[in-house]
Amino acid sequence: MTNASANHFFAQVCTFIMGGVSLEALPPTTFPEIAFAGRSNVGKSSLVNALTGQKTLAKASNTPGRTKQINFFLLAERLMMVDLPGYGYAKAPKKEVRQWTHLVKDYLTGRPNLMRVLLLIDARHGLKDVDIGIMKLLDVAAVSYQIVLTKADKIKPAALATLIEATAASLKHHAAAHPQIIATSSVSKDGIEALRAELAAFAESKNR
Ligand code: GDP
Repeated sequence: MTNASANHFFAQVCTFIMGGVSLEALPPTTFPEIAFAGRSNVGKSSLVNALTGQKTLAKASNTPGRTKQINFFLLAERLMMVDLPGYGYAKAPKKEVRQWTHLVKDYLTGRPNLMRVLLLIDARHGLKDVDIGIMKLLDVAAVSYQIVLTKADKIKPAALATLIEATAASLKHHAAAHPQIIATSSVSKDGIEALRAELAAFAESKNR
C-alpha cells in the first residue's frame, strides 16, 4: 500500500464504538483489530489522534474514570483500533495493577481478530522492565507485536539511531516481536505516514 492511499484510508471517518471493562462486554470480532499498548503518558492518545487527524478522538474516551477500560474505534468501517489502558503508573495501587493485568490478558489472549499490538515506547526512556513484562506476555500468547517509539522529536537523531539499534537487538530474544521499529512524533508527525501504511494493510486482512 502506498503512503497516499494509506493517508486516504486514515482520513476516513473514525468513530468511538465503546469502552469495555470485561471480555464479555467487548464488541464482536467482525473487523481486523490493531491494539495500542504502552505505559501511562507514553503519548498513546496523541498518536491515535495524529494517525486519524482527529484531535479529540482518543482524549474523548480518556476522561478520568474511563481510562481503565479498553476503548474501541472503528476506522472507515474496516479496521478496529483498540486503545488499551496505560500501564506502569508508578503510584498505581496493587489492586488496579491486578485489574489491568487481568483485563488486558483476557483481551490479548481472547481476540481471534487481533492482528497486531503496537507497543508504544517513549524514545527518551527506551524499554523498561514493565514493557518487557508485556512483551513476554505477548510472546507466550503468540500475539504479534511491534515497537513504536513515541516523542522522537524529544531526542537527537544520533540518540534515536542508537536507541533503535539497541531495541532491535533486544527484540531478537522475543518470539512474537516484529523486527521493524517505527519511530514517531505526534508533534513533528515523523513516522506517522509510515505507521498508517503499516496499519492500513491490515484492513484488507482476514481474521486469523
Ligand atoms: P497517553 O497517556 O499515553 O495517552 O499520553 P498523551 O498522548 O496524553 O501524552 C502525554 C504527554 O506527552 C502530553 O503532555 C503530550 O503533549 C506529550 N506528547 C505526546 N506525544 C508527543 C510527541 O510526539 N512529542 C512531544 N514532544 N510530546 C508528546
